[in-house]
Amino acid sequence: MRIVVLGGGVIGVASAYWLHAAGHDVDVVERREAAGLETSWGNGAIIHVSSVQPWAAPGVPMKVLKWLGREDAPMLLRPSAVPKMWRWGLGFLRAARPAQYQAGSLANLKLAMESAACMAGIREATGVQYDYAGHCVIKTFSDQGALDVATAEHLALASHGLETEVLSRDECVAREPALAPVAGKLAGGLGFPQDEVGDCSKFSQGLAAWLAARGVRFHYDTTVQDVVLKGGRVAAVRTSAGEIPADAVVVALASQSVPLLKRLGIAMPIQPVKGISVTLPRAVWPDGPRQAILEDSRKFALTPLGDRYRIVGSAEVGDESTTPSPVRIGALTAKVAELFPQLKDCEHMPGAISWAGLRPMVPDGQPRIGPTAIPGLWTNTGHGHTGWTMAAGSGRRLAELMGAGGLAERAA
Ligand SMILES: Cc1cc2nc3c(=O)[nH]c(=O)nc-3n(C[C@H](O)[C@H](O)[C@H](O)COP(=O)(O)OP(=O)(O)OC[C@H]3O[C@@H](n4cnc5c(N)ncnc54)[C@H](O)[C@@H]3O)c2cc1C
Repeated sequence: MRIVVLGGGVIGVASAYWLHAAGHDVDVVERREAAGLETSWGNGAIIHVSSVQPWAAPGVPMKVLKWLGREDAPMLLRPSAVPKMWRWGLGFLRAARPAQYQAGSLANLKLAMESAACMAGIREATGVQYDYAGHCVIKTFSDQGALDVATAEHLALASHGLETEVLSRDECVAREPALAPVAGKLAGGLGFPQDEVGDCSKFSQGLAAWLAARGVRFHYDTTVQDVVLKGGRVAAVRTSAGEIPADAVVVALASQSVPLLKRLGIAMPIQPVKGISVTLPRAVWPDGPRQAILEDSRKFALTPLGDRYRIVGSAEVGDESTTPSPVRIGALTAKVAELFPQLKDCEHMPGAISWAGLRPMVPDGQPRIGPTAIPGLWTNTGHGHTGWTMAAGSGRRLAELMGAGGLAERAA
């Protein structure tokens, strides 16, 4: 089957990998000059099997209301966005009920664990290099109450396969000596042996190059304009460089999936939620952390990534530009400096890159992988805050659904 994948982010490239492995003839259409240059570029770089719970959790709607309009809040809902997103908001409220949250968390954990296994297979099969590191993610807490709640929540997932190490303050410091000067500020932490670190953009580009060398056609600098239907089913993709015939099409355009699908009469409930990051040369703090640190109380992640550090945080609804706001970058790095004064004002250090990206969030936090009402039209989108974690498994699930005879034998 000739399958055209729309979008060359990590989800589109992972879809192409498994579709190619299943023996299909695959094209990928990407408007940028290479793969993985948009949301997949500056993310937190953590394959966080431990943190795939939907954001729609009991108690979160109240927190969001409390932070409404506050420019320095970790999760900012701009009042101007509310009228446009009421339907999505209702879905979020419904998904935040305890039973729905529990079901969503388990479904996401299953996909994340499948995905981690797929990543190991892809690494072995392709040799793609992306600053991979394993067993190096800890979550720190300043608040004992928050630590107790998180510990109970993570340990409750043990019977579903999630591994969690409960760490005292001293054990946090033993794992990450850079925490020693601020040990007094910590209540303790959690370690996540299944989590991994890696550069999502490098992975996307490396895997795209590997696939291109094996016959997958990547159409860069090419914008998707429409999907052409004949007799009610998919026939081609219209692009800025002409039409590409297709037996099937996979929409993996993240937030941009919405307008394309709307033109085809399909409502896709994706709300872009802006996040920011700062990427720094490791040389700014050579003795800095070796572990990725997710700081619960201050809502940031600091990830050592090859020869760089990446700092991420912030969730903002109502600003859909990919320009990082200096106010929010400043608020993020100020939180980091509370624990690590070496990184005070790090966004102004030589070589620092401030970035913003749009998480493609569906209300219930579960990606939309599967067929649509139009024959031949499929989606693999809506991965929100977990796209890097779930990419490889989502691509494989999609290929299985699309009819992947002998997938297990042909690919790792
Ligand atoms: C601040 C931040 C931190 C994050 N941290 C993590 C993390 O630590 N771990 C994790 O698992 N996830 C994380 N995420 C989420 C993760 O980055 C995303 O879920 C993932 O990158 C989504 O991948 P994608 O391929 O769907 O989207 P994208 O990477 O955005 O890919 C979509 C592609 O479609 C292309 N496109 C759009 N419209 C068109 C068109 N008309 N024609 C052609 N091409 C088009 C775009 O150019 C883009 O390359 C984070 C996100 C943010 C913003």
